[in-house]
Amino acid sequence: MGVVAEMAERVQVQYAGQKVEEQGVADLFARPHHPYTAALLSALPERANARRLPSIPGVVPGLYDRPPGCLFEPRCTHATDICRQGATRQGPELGYALCNHPLNGARKGAPKQRRKAKAAS
Ligand code: SF4
Repeated sequence: MGVVAEMAERVQVQYAGQKVEEQGVADLFARPHHPYTAALLSALPERANARRLPSIPGVVPGLYDRPPGCLFEPRCTHATDICRQGATRQGPELGYALCNHPLNGARKGAPKQRRKAKAAS
């Protein structure tokens, strides 16, 4: 992640072969929206506030043992029942997070077209 921060302008985070978030590098490091991205960032040595680096319990699912809903659900501390049915792709204001409960809300002034479209339907 340190190399990414120095070399990239935009970052796409993948989990088990799926894109789970995409943002400009500064925004991604400052305001991750997907719980997997947040967990990765919290494991950076410079961000850790304990003697041992935090880790994500469990393992990445293989091709033949995928959970039925969100692929990160078995390891996610934010999971709810709906996550066992699938994950919703959020809009650009939430880093295209593939998540029903994205973290860190939308920034002030960020486009809200997606939410308005949902409310209208
Ligand atoms: S959809 Fe649910 S289980 Fe998947 S990452 Fe988001 S909160 Fe976690």
